Amino acid sequence: MTHVGVAVVGGGAAGVAALRTLVDAGQDALLLEAKDRLGGRAHTVWTHGGPLDLGAGWLHSAEHNPWVAIAEAEGFTVDRTLPRWYEQWRDLGFSPDDKAAAIAAYAAFDRRMREVSPASDRAGDALEPGCAWNGYLDAISGYINGAGSSQVSIADYLAYDDAATATDWRVAEGYGALVARHAVGGRVALGTPVTRIGASAKVLRIDTPRGALTADAAIVTTSTNVLAAGAIGFDPRFDDVLHAAACLPLGLADKLFLAVDGAAELEADAHLLGNPRSPVTATYTLCPFGRPVIEAMFGGEGARAMEAEGLGGAAAFAIDELCALLGTGWRRRLRLVAGSAWGKDPHILGGYSHALPGRATMRQVLATPVDARIRFAGEACSPTEFSTAHGAYKTGVDAAHALIG
Ligand SMILES: Cc1cc2nc3c(=O)[nH]c(=O)nc-3n(C[C@H](O)[C@H](O)[C@H](O)COP(=O)(O)OP(=O)(O)OC[C@H]3O[C@@H](n4cnc5c(N)ncnc54)[C@H](O)[C@@H]3O)c2cc1C
Repeated sequence: MTHVGVAVVGGGAAGVAALRTLVDAGQDALLLEAKDRLGGRAHTVWTHGGPLDLGAGWLHSAEHNPWVAIAEAEGFTVDRTLPRWYEQWRDLGFSPDDKAAAIAAYAAFDRRMREVSPASDRAGDALEPGCAWNGYLDAISGYINGAGSSQVSIADYLAYDDAATATDWRVAEGYGALVARHAVGGRVALGTPVTRIGASAKVLRIDTPRGALTADAAIVTTSTNVLAAGAIGFDPRFDDVLHAAACLPLGLADKLFLAVDGAAELEADAHLLGNPRSPVTATYTLCPFGRPVIEAMFGGEGARAMEAEGLGGAAAFAIDELCALLGTGWRRRLRLVAGSAWGKDPHILGGYSHALPGRATMRQVLATPVDARIRFAGEACSPTEFSTAHGAYKTGVDAAHALIG
């Protein structure tokens, strides 16, 4: 049976970071990835003449995001154009007065989470009952947490908010392409889902449909929903880990890209919010990087509705929202080119993790080893930078360092 020093399970940002750290330290490591590609939720597809990110796209908190330096070292182009999420292009469908009121409602919600801090730790309990902007606030919660405020822990919400900066950059060649590139030089087995990790003998036994191997140690980076679904059997069972994973479920976040005829009439990188009064809406970036596409992002309830509709239905919804803002003449100028349904991806099962009310400390539980030879890593293990590719990266590096000392 093949033996490796460290088996890294999962080739997203955390797994790739762990692999790279181990290889650079001269360790014998093998990454086992279920899919036929690397990157996980960082996934760049090359279509309509350019790279489009169906998952992670923004180098959030760019000042302390390690992917920025990696991108530069790998020869990728870091685009420092800041997002315009709080602007509404030409004030279409969202007047400056309404926008100011919505932003003030968000500030009041944030203040109540910090100062009143409901005992339930449920962010939804910090909403002002009957406030006209609660749909807007839930849409924002959907983009940030992948879930509406009623499902989210206040402590978790604020931990992220306090650690994040307002500097968000992009990689012109694609964030997913960058994550995959970072694995070059490491040993990778694609199309190799791990089904069981046996820890009752001196060496670990790792089972896959392509055969078994043994390992001195393992770093497991699959998403919390994959862990909680029992896709990998652990022997002995790690009940604390599985419970922690269930308390940190993935919400939903999805993207779709529409090709635009006559894109010169739109302003590159300008922003539109589809419906500022509903959580079932999308946020649109017009012609990102000047390319002839519109990028739509759905979160929380909006993403749930779109996954139920299927890609065609989601595209029809986005086109309806855009035509309501830009004019009906745009209907024949917009066409679906690509989109995601991360909740339906059997190796991911959602967008990104949030803590259920009262469960923010579960991130620490997930990151605490239950066996000296096995570490869990991945975005959900980060106490403050969860739900991001750089948070995932840091947990992968930390897990590798912890194993090799
Ligand atoms: C629509 C969307 C937009 C986003 N936007 C941003 C953004 O702008 N900026 C940002 O920083 N983050 C963003 N994120 C979040 C970011 O993509 C994730 O937090 C991060 O990529 C997660 O990395 P990970 O390594 O923890 O997990 P994953 O990427 O999920 O990697 C886990 C890997 O494990 C593999 N796997 C699963 N089961 C098995 C098994 N049994 N055996 C072997 N392999 C297995 C999976 O296929 C996957 O490749 C976004 C996510 C989504 C969905």
